[in-house]
Amino acid sequence: MRRLRSVKIVATLGPASSTYEMIRALHEAGADVFRLNMSHGSHSEIAERHAIIRQVEKDLDSTIGILADLQGPKLRVGVFANGEEELVEGASFRLDLADEEGSISRVTLPHPEIFAALEPGAHLLVNDGKIRLKVEACGKDFADCSVVTGGTISNRKGVNVPDVVLPLAALSEKDRGDLEFVADLGVDWLALSFVQRAQDVIEARELCKGRAAILSKIEKPAGVKAFDEILEVSDGIMVARGDLGVELPVQNVPPIQKRLIRRCRAAAKPVIVATQMLESMIESPMPTRAEVSDVATAIYEGSDAIMLSAESAAGDYPIEAVTTMNNVAIEVESDPTYTEIIEASRAAKRATVADGIVAAAREIAETTDIKAICCFTSSGTTALLTARERPRVPIIAMTNSVKTARRLALTWGTKCVITGELERFKQAVVNAARAARSGGYADSNDQILVTAGVPFNTPGTTNILRVAPCDERMIYNTDPE
Ligand code: PGA
Ligand code: MN
Repeated sequence: MRRLRSVKIVATLGPASSTYEMIRALHEAGADVFRLNMSHGSHSEIAERHAIIRQVEKDLDSTIGILADLQGPKLRVGVFANGEEELVEGASFRLDLADEEGSISRVTLPHPEIFAALEPGAHLLVNDGKIRLKVEACGKDFADCSVVTGGTISNRKGVNVPDVVLPLAALSEKDRGDLEFVADLGVDWLALSFVQRAQDVIEARELCKGRAAILSKIEKPAGVKAFDEILEVSDGIMVARGDLGVELPVQNVPPIQKRLIRRCRAAAKPVIVATQMLESMIESPMPTRAEVSDVATAIYEGSDAIMLSAESAAGDYPIEAVTTMNNVAIEVESDPTYTEIIEASRAAKRATVADGIVAAAREIAETTDIKAICCFTSSGTTALLTARERPRVPIIAMTNSVKTARRLALTWGTKCVITGELERFKQAVVNAARAARSGGYADSNDQILVTAGVPFNTPGTTNILRVAPCDERMIYNTDPE
């Protein structure tokens, strides 16, 4: 699908978006990557959606990324004899390991590892942060708390423990089963929830064995603190603002979002801004002005991708939500201020030949009438480095790997074309010119840039930058081999 914007759109699938017609329409409206949320949906439903996406990809001769999002160590309270209780400010409330139904004075929290890590003064947040408890005293199987902010507590509500690094396994039993399942299915990205340390990512990577790229969701203070190390071992990042805004004061989220986006760009790794981007569109065909502004801000900040959650998974207007994001993106990216901001925030670090070549390509594209940068890449690295430059012309990633192409669906400004095996550079230039013409990016009297590493299929060899005509006869006449 031809897109008129560089930022990518991720749409979560769910009950509102599980048919072939809907998934196809969402892709046509602008969704580049589909997210399968492992917190909801059975394995057979997930497999069915996965198969539909691949069918749409085939029918439209397009490239679509699939991201499976593991639930992670989500903590929950037990059940109440009355189903729910009303906690009032100033009251005492105990959490413990007792195998009994809860009351107004206590409830089970079936996670011994939390009690092991708690300390007096720590806070526990229940039900998306609506209820706030402060630990007054605790032991290995209980915590006596005071209610700081009251509210209704009910069966199996989620619990966040922001102040403490929990000694929780990064992946629960369910996560391990889900990981095996989706990695075998052939998803392109695996998202890890509640990442707290680099080791969490390393563990998942060992289990994943290269079957998918790994994306770390930053949604805990510990994850924010250890961000640099987490980024180092991850292939991509999600600014998971839902839980992040529960675990930290909400006003901390925007600065973190800005910082994470910049770091990811400097590291040439894709970043997604997620959650509540167009929340009101779950029920309304029109977004609020504030939501439009939030989407625009993420784009101005240079995010690779913006994401829809319930808006596309369970809302009444999934297509309208994707269309809104698409329209906002087109408008923002045509604003000269956008170009100014993006170009002013380019990281200057140049360490390798490949860095030099992609920077040169971007500069030539700025000063000359060039229609596209075509980069030959098998691992995707050269495309990531080119995208980091945020050039003003489209990036066409030419790759012989379907897997690479699908992973790059998340990367800013990158469209992928699958090539056959290549041996000679001249053949590569001809392919690039054809891709630029057939994609509608160039005519035969235009020029493109081609970057490649020769010999082909040896990673890390980017060593050629060629300004090439799009006219095949001219390529044959002028290129030496
Ligand atoms: P979730 O993650 O939707 O899986 O909770 C995103 C977030 O917390 O923002
Ligand atoms: Mn979350």
